[in-house]
Amino acid sequence: MNDLELLAAADVRAMNYTASLPTRRVFPDSGALAGLTRFDEPLPPQGLPPEQTLALLDDVGSPATTASNGPDYFGFVIGASLPVATAAERLMIAWDQCASSWDNSPVSATLELLAGKWLLEILDLPRESAVGFGTSATACTLSCLATARRELLQRHGWDFDRDGLAGAPEIRVVISELTHITVKKALRILGFGLRHLIVAPVNGRGQIDLLHLPELDDRTIICLQAGEVNSGEFDDFAALMPLARAAGAWVHIDGAFGLWARASKFKAFTHGIEQADSWTTDGHKWLNTPYDCAMAICRHSAALSSAMNADAGYSAASQDAQKNLTLEFSRRPRGIPVWASLRTLGRDGVAAMIERHCLLAQQIGEGLSEAGFEVINRVVINQVLFRASSEALTLRVREALQTSGEAWFAGTFWQGKAALRVSVSSWRTEEIHVQKFIVLMARIYREILAEG
Ligand SMILES: *Cc1c(COP(=O)(O)O)cnc(C)c1O
Repeated sequence: MNDLELLAAADVRAMNYTASLPTRRVFPDSGALAGLTRFDEPLPPQGLPPEQTLALLDDVGSPATTASNGPDYFGFVIGASLPVATAAERLMIAWDQCASSWDNSPVSATLELLAGKWLLEILDLPRESAVGFGTSATACTLSCLATARRELLQRHGWDFDRDGLAGAPEIRVVISELTHITVKKALRILGFGLRHLIVAPVNGRGQIDLLHLPELDDRTIICLQAGEVNSGEFDDFAALMPLARAAGAWVHIDGAFGLWARASKFKAFTHGIEQADSWTTDGHKWLNTPYDCAMAICRHSAALSSAMNADAGYSAASQDAQKNLTLEFSRRPRGIPVWASLRTLGRDGVAAMIERHCLLAQQIGEGLSEAGFEVINRVVINQVLFRASSEALTLRVREALQTSGEAWFAGTFWQGKAALRVSVSSWRTEEIHVQKFIVLMARIYREILAEG
């Protein structure tokens, strides 16, 4: 097979897989999992034919996938891939561009600049902000928090790049009790020390409790969130932002998926968020681009581009070159699937997808209540948090659902007790899938209760 024949063969396999999504098991069965041992071969001393590698990948690999790109997957906040985003990614892989700077790839630099501009418009964030594209919200949060600390230190006359941290003025970090683990990971890697983080308690809904807000000052970074990972809740930005602004604190927003509410009629939940200093969001979750795709957005563009600067004698570039805005020096142009998605959906299409997911989540909440489950959260956006009447039953329901292969979601903990969590975030999920899911959940619960 020559290279074109191999690509054509891969395309046929990819198309067959995609066509099978609505009907395939959502989590692999035990046979498919056992089949994974077929990958367990020694490193070949001599190379093998590429078509054979492709066949092995498809024959053994495809059955062992989770159908997270299908309509019946409700796990985590995964999101499927929009066809145009996948198609653009296909072409992009043929280009094999390095998105560091204009010199590396004029088309990547042009489209990532445009994607960043559109993003600021659709999310209605300060238009002067810099937008860096990265692999994940985790990596982009790390970029934003490193920038925040460096900038606050600079405001206090400390040159972080030259002098590092030893002897530096102390920078305090306030996080929510429900801050996402990846924000804590970023803070830990940056050397803040978990025991030094100041934890703001939350109210029953999971929002930072305004009555117990820790003190803020101009040496404080406060991390707020748009879209708590279990409940989908939003911190009360309208109340918090003026306090943080008045104190001179740096506000970072984790909006991995929830920031996209701003592109819909649910924007009011995020009122005030535009006053923050930095924001992180994902493309690979609610916008339904393929993995890995995320954005670091910073109001103070020079602060981000100096903190992330990677200019070298052999590779100098403009301040807004992508290698100067996030962690990666070399990567593929992740802004291109964002651009392709936004261009294809338009403002209306993005709003319609998000609003539909929220409506479907509400239907799921109602259906689960009718089936006898306790819905724990107020279903503000696309997340439904619920449980059965006891801890043991909750676990049994999760297991029965997961082994059914008909749909999939994961368990979680809410206020120290086991709970179940559904997210509607795939463009493929329609009302019929949700109705089927509700019937399935009601049947599972009935059968488990009948078994006693
Ligand atoms: C998924 C998620 C993250 C981490 O995003 P990655 O892109 O997986 O690194 C952070 N915060 C929240 C609220 C999330 O849902």
